[in-house]
Amino acid sequence: MNEHLLSLVRKLKETHSLSLAEYRALVEGQTPELAALLAKEADEARRAVYGNEVFVRGLIEISSFCKNDCRYCGLRRSNGQAERYRLTEDEILSCAREGYGLGFRTFVLQGGEDAWFTDERLCAIVKEIKTEFPDCAVTLSLGERSCESYLALYKAGADRYLLRHETADEEHYAKLHPAELHFENRMRCLSDLRKVGYAVGCGFMVGSPGQTAKTLAKDLKFVETFRPEMCGIGPFIPHHATPFANEKPGSVEQTCYLLSVLRLIHPSLLLPATTALGTLDARGREKGILAGANVVMPNLSPVGVRKKYELYNGKICTGEESAQCRDCLDLRMKSIGYRVVVSRGDPKPIPRKGDL
Ligand code: SAH
Repeated sequence: MNEHLLSLVRKLKETHSLSLAEYRALVEGQTPELAALLAKEADEARRAVYGNEVFVRGLIEISSFCKNDCRYCGLRRSNGQAERYRLTEDEILSCAREGYGLGFRTFVLQGGEDAWFTDERLCAIVKEIKTEFPDCAVTLSLGERSCESYLALYKAGADRYLLRHETADEEHYAKLHPAELHFENRMRCLSDLRKVGYAVGCGFMVGSPGQTAKTLAKDLKFVETFRPEMCGIGPFIPHHATPFANEKPGSVEQTCYLLSVLRLIHPSLLLPATTALGTLDARGREKGILAGANVVMPNLSPVGVRKKYELYNGKICTGEESAQCRDCLDLRMKSIGYRVVVSRGDPKPIPRKGDL
């Protein structure tokens, strides 16, 4: 194996930091051998923090209405073919109840940027979930909002917030998004979320149109320096009714490779093996866990709406009941020697440089 690349893996393992040029070299130097080595190191690093435990999060897709027009996403407002829905407060609560019975202790409320979900309505929902299930964490994934809104939701009891940065390269960001969405504002949101007190998740798609080793190096450097508690990455998958309909999907191998790199950057990072990974490859989520991920996010949305939350083509788990999704993932994790646990799965503090 290439000596320089091996030395980069060692450096990453020991210092949890590389330069932009080094991250780029690591991205460009991907081979099956190097991927296997990185996966082994990542697995060791993850086991030292989490053993063989995998955390589950119950995903409740609360609305498919979206005011945004992201070029990659099937929920974009100009997709006139999309059937739109939003769940009522009662429906969201009953998804959480079902989830609680199945052993979920974290609920993720995700949706398009739907103005119907005002702070007032969302705060009421968050409070109800936290009152009924005080031992559960609530994670929000509802896009860009004002700092006041993030603060109000936090005060209502929300614990965590997922907002993928999508790409840490400003020009690339502009290729993926409509003109009214700005890289700067995304960064502002992420820093507001951090200031308010949330455990924060950033992340990006792998293989999105226009992505290069250079932009990926920036993503890795961003994750290294922003120090998020969580990081969601999954392959880009084209959606038929978007401008990216004819683009190539991202690769499962590259996603797993990057999961391993992320695990070595922050050994205690909460890192999901995403549904997109499971969509491109029947064993994608198992491969993600084996590469260093430690979270899975089965769907808890009512079966009747699942097909309508179509971010990309062929999204899996749209026909099953929640209990089936939960059992199926339990079995999948067992088959590779991991154990899904009934736990909030809180983030562990990421040591600062000086603590190492
Ligand atoms: N409106 C929320 C939730 C978006 S959906 C928000 O803006 O955060 C969650 C994630 O799905 C997005 O951040 C994006 O990275 C991913 N996603 C969207 N379209 C996708 C596609 N075509 N392929 C793969 N992932 C996609």
